[in-house]
Amino acid sequence: NKVILLNKRPEGKPTLEDFKFVEEETPVVSEGQVLLKTRYVSVDPYLRGRMTDAKSYVPPFELNKPVQSAVVAEVLDSGNSSFNKGDFVTGLLDWKEYQLSDGRGLNRVDAEAADLSAYLGILGMTGLTAYFGLTEIGRPKEGETLVVSGAAGAVGSVVGQIGKIMGCKVIGIAGSDEKIEQLKSKFGFDAGINYKTTQDMTKAIADAAPDGVDVYFDNVGGEVSDGVLANINNFGRVPVCGAISTYNDTVVSQGPRLQPILVKNSVLMQGFIVSNYGAKFPEGIKQLTQWLQEGKLTYTETIVNGFDQIPQAFIGLFDGKNNGKMVVKI
Ligand code: NDP
Repeated sequence: NKVILLNKRPEGKPTLEDFKFVEEETPVVSEGQVLLKTRYVSVDPYLRGRMTDAKSYVPPFELNKPVQSAVVAEVLDSGNSSFNKGDFVTGLLDWKEYQLSDGRGLNRVDAEAADLSAYLGILGMTGLTAYFGLTEIGRPKEGETLVVSGAAGAVGSVVGQIGKIMGCKVIGIAGSDEKIEQLKSKFGFDAGINYKTTQDMTKAIADAAPDGVDVYFDNVGGEVSDGVLANINNFGRVPVCGAISTYNDTVVSQGPRLQPILVKNSVLMQGFIVSNYGAKFPEGIKQLTQWLQEGKLTYTETIVNGFDQIPQAFIGLFDGKNNGKMVVKI
């Protein structure tokens, strides 16, 4: 039974040396427990924050303890009346091939209704993040211009599609020409900007959004966001979902002071974490499922194969190796 531990806290971009593989006995269930076999592991940018020793909305990982993330697992054996052998569940679980759980925090998922990996993406945390961040904070109105950064990723690709469903003009920012092409051809975005080949982001946004930006869904922060915010309209809304461009920084980066822009244009800028909307998750899942069934929403995944590949898949997020949701299939 392989287990992945946090070996040391990353400095800058994570490396394989930050993780350690160990073997342990496959456990046996006792009364009240289930034995889980890991089937799909989600790797997410926010895990980088948990690898540092800083206070945040989730406690840091401990050194020499297993790393955890959202996992889809199969119940191999059950001593818990709420779960049967053969059930599939999601939960925040250790990076282990097999593990025990007392059932707390596990949710049963329907393997017939959707691909199992979808419960880590479009029907899981990233789909819900896109849905609630956009509808509750971005509040797009028909005819408005929506810009989303990290647009080809798990959250961003869903944000853009929901923006189209809500009648917006949608502009995506991502890191390769192939991703930009896919935003337009597969996800229905109106325009795309490759931030890696764009010298002047402020001008590129002005060109793509001649009426200005009404909603900016920010996944990346940094200079990309400086360029978008220079084009924000009166009463613009800015859901701040993430800032991946800064997650590996060893010194705090300095950008333009935003307050004058926010004041001058009466802009609402609000950070959030998806769990703020936990009470509404069933509603969000229902809406996302309906749009999927109606063909209004689609998704992509990058599926990496093999338990041993989990650390590399995680590191790959910071190189844009994924197209849509990055998951590891065990
Ligand atoms: P993604 O699927 O978007 O994967 C990360 C992507 O970020 C990469 O594919 C890469 O795409 C892009 N990226 C990496 N480095 C940089 C950089 N330096 N500058 C700009 N883009 C970069 O991940 P998620 O959809 O899971 O997460 C997207 C964002 O949302 C993250 O910031 C994450 O922390 C946040 N998040 C927040 C949640 C919340 O509750 N607030 C919940 C879930 C996610 P490219 O090729 O375009 O560079």
